[in-house]
Amino acid sequence: MTKPLPITEFEFRPKITVARRLAFRIAFLGFIFLLLTFSTLIPWQFRTVKASTVHQAQSLANVIASLYQAVERNEDMDEVSRLILKAAHMPSVAFISLMDQNGKVIHSTDFHQINHVYSKASGEVDNLLYVTQAIPDPKLDVAAVLVVMNLSSIYADYKRFYVELGTAFILAIILLALIVAWMTRSIVGYRLARLARAMGNAEKGSFLVRAQVDKMDEVGAVTLAFNKLLAAITNLQVKEIEREQDLKSAQEQLSIKAQLEKVADELNSSNESLKRRVKAQELLMDAAHHLGGVLNKEALVNRLVVLIRDKLGWPDFAIFLKEPDEDQLRLVVASGLPNIDIIKELSFRFGEGITGLVAEKATPIAIGDLAKEPRMKLWSKFDNLEDLPDFLKHGSMLSVPMSYQGRVVGVMDFFYPKLNAFDDEDVTLLHALGALLTTSIVNADLYEATLELATSDSLTGVLNRRAMERVIENEVARAQRFSTPLSLLLVDVDHFKNYNDQMGHLMGDVALKEIASSLQKSVRKVDSVARFGGEEFCVILPQTNEQAALEVAEKLCSVIRKLDIPGAHLQPLKKISISIGVAVYPDHMPPILEQSPTIELVHAADEALYAAKRKGRDRVVRFEDINSKEESGPLI
Ligand code: GH3
Ligand code: MG
Ligand code: MG
Repeated sequence: MTKPLPITEFEFRPKITVARRLAFRIAFLGFIFLLLTFSTLIPWQFRTVKASTVHQAQSLANVIASLYQAVERNEDMDEVSRLILKAAHMPSVAFISLMDQNGKVIHSTDFHQINHVYSKASGEVDNLLYVTQAIPDPKLDVAAVLVVMNLSSIYADYKRFYVELGTAFILAIILLALIVAWMTRSIVGYRLARLARAMGNAEKGSFLVRAQVDKMDEVGAVTLAFNKLLAAITNLQVKEIEREQDLKSAQEQLSIKAQLEKVADELNSSNESLKRRVKAQELLMDAAHHLGGVLNKEALVNRLVVLIRDKLGWPDFAIFLKEPDEDQLRLVVASGLPNIDIIKELSFRFGEGITGLVAEKATPIAIGDLAKEPRMKLWSKFDNLEDLPDFLKHGSMLSVPMSYQGRVVGVMDFFYPKLNAFDDEDVTLLHALGALLTTSIVNADLYEATLELATSDSLTGVLNRRAMERVIENEVARAQRFSTPLSLLLVDVDHFKNYNDQMGHLMGDVALKEIASSLQKSVRKVDSVARFGGEEFCVILPQTNEQAALEVAEKLCSVIRKLDIPGAHLQPLKKISISIGVAVYPDHMPPILEQSPTIELVHAADEALYAAKRKGRDRVVRFEDINSKEESGPLI
């Protein structure tokens, strides 16, 4: 933007004005004219005057000569002398002399000339013009008349005239110059100075003040043109200011636009990263959702494979899990990797290869270019690098640990054919996924451990099979120690598949709960009821002999028969019933135990139960009855 000039009054002070220049020029030309005129006029004038003086002198000399001749004859010399003297009194005549034959002055108006001898007849000496007129009369003693004219006095008049003329001319020139100067100043100079002041002010930035136009002559026209120019400049200035403002606002808009674009770019990139994060969060949520409830390790890993392959879109990866009680990783999933034995049986010790290193350090490792990674050979177990499968030769790899509270439970290896495929966000996401899987695996382990510890069956609330086995073991041990009998009833619900088919599995569960509860209520506190599996139960009767056990078994059959269970009439026996096999320790133990007493006892009861089924169900069969009184019947 042009900075406006400070508006200060412009003072116009020219060193020389037009008026003065004109005056000087007129004066100069006047003097030149005067000099030229006088230098030609004066010599000419003087020549003319001299010629006319010569002529006058000759005429005078002639007149005097004639007079003298006439007077000589009449001898009236006094009169002649008087006339000569009168003539000699003329201002231009210096003196008049009369000379004899020898040129000697015999009479003169100037007595100094008497006896002066003149050799020359005429001439000019010391501003005195000598003109001689001969008197051709031998009778006379005067032979010639000399008239001497005083040129100085003649010239003096002319000189005075020229001096006066010159002075008048000079005065006229000076007057003319002054008049011209005054007129020029009033007509042109003053107005031009005013215009110059206006121009000077304009130059200093005062475009709004106009020069005064008084008369419409050339100066007025120039002033008007200048005023129009000023108006045009003002317009231009206004336009320039507007343009500068436009430019400024355009620049501001541009910078705002640039800022907006920058913000938009930042928004876009943060949007992209947000999208990635949202996708990652979705994946993690999905993973949490799908993995969270799974308490079986195998199912967990299978679900993770589906998640990584389908949701994450990552086809090539391997999952290793830590072997229990060993610092060793075993391959459990090899998705997208070649189905070759060396890979299928792959395992790493902690610290061995990339995978082992990740397990040991519990930190992810990303490799941008597998071809440049010497540690890779440790992944492969291939002695010869040439034998490496393609996915291990080129591209990139990311290995993330699955760790929980510093304990590594496995490692996930991801492969990609392109170089540097994994960025920080991938590492974070897959690491988080690994952590999630770890939690699920740890949960599954914990669940298994909990199951180990749990004693009750989740559906029926009676003892579970594991607890049952412990109770039997304990009771067998006690029976051995105290030599007391121990009876075992193995109970199976009759045609329960039919019940499920008729009433649905949920109603089947309700019925199972009802049956278990009835069994539990119908025995002593020291007795134990356990769910053996499915619709089979086991009743442990410590310190109970066979007779008592049979009574209990019958009582149980009777209790179940009487149960008011919905849909019971749809059963083949028109009721819910149970079959019971009875075995007693030590009575029904084989002579040589092939397995533990617990297993042998359960086995015996199972056989008795099988017999009860064969005999038609809804009954009690003792182990010892199996072979002796077995009645064959359909096992339907
Ligand atoms: P049988 O008289 O020979 O014992 O006939 P069954 O139908 O009871 O015998 P099977 O062994 O063929 O069928 C057992 C059925 O018990 C199969 C299964 O549907 C049912 N069952 C096992 N466990 C459960 C359970 O927890 N809930 C429900 N509702 N049904 C179960
Ligand atoms: Mg069964
Ligand atoms: Mg059954």
